[in-house]
Amino acid sequence: MRDASRLTARLLISCWLLASVDGSALAYQEQHLKESERASTALIRQVKEWISKSGTSEAKAADAKARFSVDQSLMPTIWVQQSSGSGYEIKATRPFYIVLIYLADTDTITFRQQPQKYFECKRAYDQYLYDVFSDNAKRSLAGGQLKDVNPPEIFSATASALCREYGKLFPIPPDLRPSRDQSALDAFVFLYFHELGHIAKRHSLPNATAFFSAPNKAAKDKAFLDYMKRSRQQEDEADGWAVDQLIEMGQQPQRLFNLPLFGILLASTGIDCAFESISTHSFAITRMVNILKRVDTAAEKKYQRELPKEMKSTLNDFDKFGQKVGETLKCG
Ligand SMILES: [Zn+2]
Repeated sequence: MRDASRLTARLLISCWLLASVDGSALAYQEQHLKESERASTALIRQVKEWISKSGTSEAKAADAKARFSVDQSLMPTIWVQQSSGSGYEIKATRPFYIVLIYLADTDTITFRQQPQKYFECKRAYDQYLYDVFSDNAKRSLAGGQLKDVNPPEIFSATASALCREYGKLFPIPPDLRPSRDQSALDAFVFLYFHELGHIAKRHSLPNATAFFSAPNKAAKDKAFLDYMKRSRQQEDEADGWAVDQLIEMGQQPQRLFNLPLFGILLASTGIDCAFESISTHSFAITRMVNILKRVDTAAEKKYQRELPKEMKSTLNDFDKFGQKVGETLKCG
């Protein structure tokens, strides 16, 4: 029982935390961006080796068509685009990995430090960063300069009396870093597989010309935002494909339940908000719930037994909690 509530708390907490740090990488330093570029390149090289050894034929085929590289723009994200001929390019921006680390960081800290108390701070932070991210999406469309965003520790230390005492908790202690790193890497791998899913499912992808021929950063960001307006059905299909492949390759269901993903999903739906002026938070939550349900289905099929009860109840709790979040957060 203790484990069940712990797992649920972890997932619910990460839901709020992830939502809160979407834009923080915009303020990163060049040194961190370079480290992120190296780490991202090394990780995907390993993932490609893993796929060529243990992947399904479908995963091998999709990955063989995809060339990975790190992009220099500042939106923290990963995407796939068609390149010339029959090839594809999967690109992650330099802040992408840093954001995943931050998300896993705050997850870890919250879990160790009186989560009930920190929860209020996260909610304030959550709305603050979400607003900045949405604002930046609009500025980018209008060709304007992006606003700097305070990373979690700076926000905690300076922006809000509610959060001030939490600034000193970062960077997290060395003994917590290995599990933090694992969690961030798991999220990166999942999202890489999501992009492979778009290839495997033959989704129509915009061609790369607009993006690469953009004459300056503002135009490049606009082209990128255009790209982000893709269909929700395709997103769900790519998520489902990613889960199925990872489970088939032996990824533990538990690790797919602990991914610090929600904020990244929210970030992309935040861009939808700027375009559509509708509340799309619920889409991020729906996607998250669908991912967990797919883990459930795929793992039961592979291992011919039900997931442990605590994971089942986590899924239900997240579903309910997600509905509450959808009612609470404001869009754009
Ligand atoms: Zn996608």
